[in-house]
Amino acid sequence: MKGTSLTTNPIGVHALVFAGDTSADSVRRAVAKTAETGFDLLEFSLHDSLNMDVVETRRQLAAAGLGVACSRGLAFDADVSSADPAVVEKGAQLLAGSLRVTHELGGTHLTGALYSALGKYGAPLSTAGRANVVQVLADLAAEASKLGMTLGLEICNRYETNVINTAHDALRLADDIGADNVTIHLDTYHMNIEEDDLVRPVYEVGDRLGYVHIGENHRGYLGAGHLDFGAFFHALADVGYTGPITFESFSSAVLAPGLTGDLAIWRNLWDDGEDLARHARSFIANQLAASAPR
Ligand code: MN
Repeated sequence: MKGTSLTTNPIGVHALVFAGDTSADSVRRAVAKTAETGFDLLEFSLHDSLNMDVVETRRQLAAAGLGVACSRGLAFDADVSSADPAVVEKGAQLLAGSLRVTHELGGTHLTGALYSALGKYGAPLSTAGRANVVQVLADLAAEASKLGMTLGLEICNRYETNVINTAHDALRLADDIGADNVTIHLDTYHMNIEEDDLVRPVYEVGDRLGYVHIGENHRGYLGAGHLDFGAFFHALADVGYTGPITFESFSSAVLAPGLTGDLAIWRNLWDDGEDLARHARSFIANQLAASAPR
């Protein structure tokens, strides 16, 4: 068979599959389980990064041979999409701190809802709020560039943000930010809610795609829901995407203070994160192999 060369996409897993916080014990568990289940990269949510021993975490990641990426959303009282300068400033400070932590961990990707709180807004994004997003992220991108880092704009569904719900929205926002190191982050869970299908957005984003989250429509076991992952992986291959592909799944079995509520994780979709992760690693690797050009 042609096209049997190993894929260059790093395959990642979200730390919430294994642990809900970034205490020493949780980090140790997440790093060990990520390596044991065969992933290349561990994604940390920085929602409680103040608890993280960054130097020790970096040492453990390196010892396990793992890459790292970081993600986060903001909060309603620290929100760069606000029209209130004090609220915007608090959001900008969270982002600056998260960029620093990501760099100190050895990561080059900071992604997520960097542009707003994670939660349901009761009104559309204001013109002033959008201008604040553009200004803050342009400044953050300039800082990131000095560190050789990339920002991701993760497109989230309407119940989690009012800033960008589709690939089209995200591309317009990135155009306005106007920095080469601001990339688009697609997540199949959110795409299922907002996009026409799982293919058109991949083609529309094309070489501006910088990060991918793979999640089922209910955020449980891959293949247990109705998403057309075959079509999505074919589209990724068509546009030549070689960046990280990270499995994201949440269950009430692993609770993260704050984040679990923001993401509305009320259901127990699995109990055994290790079994879930092994299954996801295999599922993603199989999809990549099946969609490789040949
Ligand atoms: Mn996601």
